[in-house]
Amino acid sequence: MDLLNTLVEKGLRRESPTREEALAVLATSDEELLDVVAAAGKVRRAWFGRRVKLNYLVNLKSGLCPEDCSYCSQRLGSEAGILKYTWLKPDEAAAAARAGVAGGAKRVCLVASGRGPTDRDVDRVSRTIAAIKEQNEGVEVCACLGLLSDGQAGRLKDAGADAYNHNLNTSEATYGEITSTHTYADRVETVQQAQAAGMSACSGLIAGMGESDEDLVDVVFSLRELDPDSVPVNFLIPFEGTPLAKKWNLTPQRCLRILAMVRFVCPDVEVRLAGGREIHLRTLQPLALHLANSIFLGDYLTSEGQAGKDDLAMIADAGFEVEGADTTTLPAHRVAADAAAGAGCGGHGDGGCGPCGGEGAGAGVCGAEPAAEASAPRQAPVADAARTDLVAVRRRGAGTELPPNA
Ligand code: SF4
Repeated sequence: MDLLNTLVEKGLRRESPTREEALAVLATSDEELLDVVAAAGKVRRAWFGRRVKLNYLVNLKSGLCPEDCSYCSQRLGSEAGILKYTWLKPDEAAAAARAGVAGGAKRVCLVASGRGPTDRDVDRVSRTIAAIKEQNEGVEVCACLGLLSDGQAGRLKDAGADAYNHNLNTSEATYGEITSTHTYADRVETVQQAQAAGMSACSGLIAGMGESDEDLVDVVFSLRELDPDSVPVNFLIPFEGTPLAKKWNLTPQRCLRILAMVRFVCPDVEVRLAGGREIHLRTLQPLALHLANSIFLGDYLTSEGQAGKDDLAMIADAGFEVEGADTTTLPAHRVAADAAAGAGCGGHGDGGCGPCGGEGAGAGVCGAEPAAEASAPRQAPVADAARTDLVAVRRRGAGTELPPNA
């Protein structure tokens, strides 16, 4: 297939596909799917070998958010029966993080619901970062606290944060349909603040919210331009009690096409298989390891993931290996460019991704809301039976008395 040969060659040169080529990947047939995975897998292996980076989520503050992101179980007015609690103390968060690191996680992602942190919140998170780093030598810490105000990125960097996550989530054109309390531009600005402060930027998307192929390509090209070091690809978790509860738009095959498209557009960037992988990829999860070089271990923010030991077994069975703490995730050219730019990662040339929010689990709803339906003729051309049986609210780990699933 000429298209796939062209995309492999471009990926190996870190050259961007055209929009038409990216759209063509999403339009491939089921018969062509394994060829698509094999082609994008060549690009993945060229830059990341067979390594899989493990990341572990700690939800520092759960629920009760004043923002209205329609995909999120923690949003204003959410009726999802999630755990709700205020800030974990630094020692509580460090204990949760220890479990993830013991399970093989190389990065701990500290997430808090809310529009953005106060300066007091930044102090609190700074103490938490210090506690985690003291107890886990070499661990990477990523903060995900929402929109940042002036000076906060620098303070987090000084406190030891290696990275900052803030997702773009969807295309600029459709952003207003999923959130009204902040803008796409707000999100871009926070990613850029993190990069300017020298943190590695992590920014990705949520697929399955009713977006078109064009929207998906738009957001991934915008991410390439922002140039984050890691791009989480979330698949909407249609939580009951959120506006997107009835949005089951994805099939395992479509998820693989989306991941392949992201890999071709962001060839040398950490592509992270994030929230929703279990419920949407289901038995095809191992194929996604040929495309993504990073996953979350265990549970998500507000929903349960596959057991950590099953994640490790899947990686081994599929012929991949867990990336060790002594290995640098990114290819040497990106590390060198980051060092020159004074950033932990990211910001240059080709590649890019960016901002905040419910990385992994909190994110994900779409749906049944009449207004959303009326304003969204962008329904993806595929549909899947609702698998509400696969969505389980997290009841263990951080914020509970039960041990984490790592
Ligand atoms: S994604 Fe973040 S900002 Fe939006 S509703 Fe959820 S917790 Fe609040």
